[in-house]
Amino acid sequence: MTHVVAPVVENIYEEVVRRNPAEGEFHQAVREVLESLAPVLARHPEYTELKTIERICEPERQIIFRVPWTDDRGEVQINRGFRVEFNSALGPYKGGLRFHPSVYLGIVKFLGFEQIFKNALTGMPIGGGKGGSDFDPKGRSDAEVMRFCQSFMTELYRHLGEHTDVPAGDVGVGAREIGYLFGQYKRITNRYESGVLTGKGLTWGGARVRTEATGYGATFFASEMLTARGTSLEGRTVVVSGSGNVALYAVEKATQLGATVVACSDSGGYVVDEAGLDLRVLQEVKEVQRGRLTDYAERVRSARHVAGGSVWDVPCHVAIPSATQNELDADAAARLVRNGCIAVSEGANMPSTPEALAVFRQAGTAFGPGKAANAGGVATSALEMQQNASRDSWTFEHTETRLEQIMHDIHARCAEAAEEYGTPGDLVAGANIAGFTRVAEAMHAHGLV
Ligand code: GLU
Repeated sequence: MTHVVAPVVENIYEEVVRRNPAEGEFHQAVREVLESLAPVLARHPEYTELKTIERICEPERQIIFRVPWTDDRGEVQINRGFRVEFNSALGPYKGGLRFHPSVYLGIVKFLGFEQIFKNALTGMPIGGGKGGSDFDPKGRSDAEVMRFCQSFMTELYRHLGEHTDVPAGDVGVGAREIGYLFGQYKRITNRYESGVLTGKGLTWGGARVRTEATGYGATFFASEMLTARGTSLEGRTVVVSGSGNVALYAVEKATQLGATVVACSDSGGYVVDEAGLDLRVLQEVKEVQRGRLTDYAERVRSARHVAGGSVWDVPCHVAIPSATQNELDADAAARLVRNGCIAVSEGANMPSTPEALAVFRQAGTAFGPGKAANAGGVATSALEMQQNASRDSWTFEHTETRLEQIMHDIHARCAEAAEEYGTPGDLVAGANIAGFTRVAEAMHAHGLV
């Protein structure tokens, strides 16, 4: 199936590019959604009339701020902080913070834009936003990370609130950073406002399963796609890219569901182990020591480390890209297909390039786009907000059951929308259409705001 962009949609896209120059990732994310919307506009002329798409492409508010802090040598450092409050039609702005040297406005906007539709797909009352900084936590001491987080929150706090904007983690922001950010928010506001951040520690308002949720969710989504095709994860070979929070818990869940995860990666290369990766050692190396996969290979005798190279060279039935945007290109996609890959579930945000997507489409590979497949993270954040609001704390089992049901429902929503709008089985179109229509209906109800 070819993806022709209707002229009206093409015009909107061109205007987005003109108004937001040099933000390649944002353009890519917008284009991917707009490509799916022509049939929706044909059925809903009011969205054209009320410029619903144009409004969705323009963030409600964008905050850019200076983050000064002092490193351990006493030297002054200046970073740039961002929060893009994209859309609040369905609830308070919700989305993570990314601390990585590659962060600039275009990255934050692509992530924020994706977040609108992802959050809508969860069926929960959360709007879309994203933030972060070009701060690089790599090699920084805990004290430096703390001072940076405190300075970051000293500006950001005035824009947040449990009913206004609720950040969480993303690349480079985990439980440690959320702790420092929460501490500073509490100190400045003199309020123990648990619901203002998610991904908190379990002893101070955090939710069980939140740490595991994105990786678990992406694996549940892979399992849903396979079930829809009359098969399962049981006995399958899986490759996961990355070795952060998403990757680690995708490894755990895929293994629990009877698959063998044979490889994962970091910026230095990848490890392969045909016998299956050892989660405990991975956790020890990555979460406790903040080390490298070379350390993993030194500790596990059956594992082999490959420096450089692409983890997508490793044959598998199911791929769960969980590292970062545009990590999987057309070449890698073609290799995966050639090696027998039948399903791809995106744990990261926009890890497949548009060209890779075209390869998977052509090959008929089951494909779960990030905004659907990795929505388990933010969905569990919404469950954390729910527990905070009722001052309750649920068990691991209860929360995981909720997550599994949510992933099942997201898959069903995508599949139904794809079917309804004439592209059965195309979960990319289904996710975009189902996410968009939920947001558009709420915006329509709220009038021109
Ligand atoms: N950063 C995650 C995402 O991409 C989680 C956001 C959240 O929990 O608010 O969806």
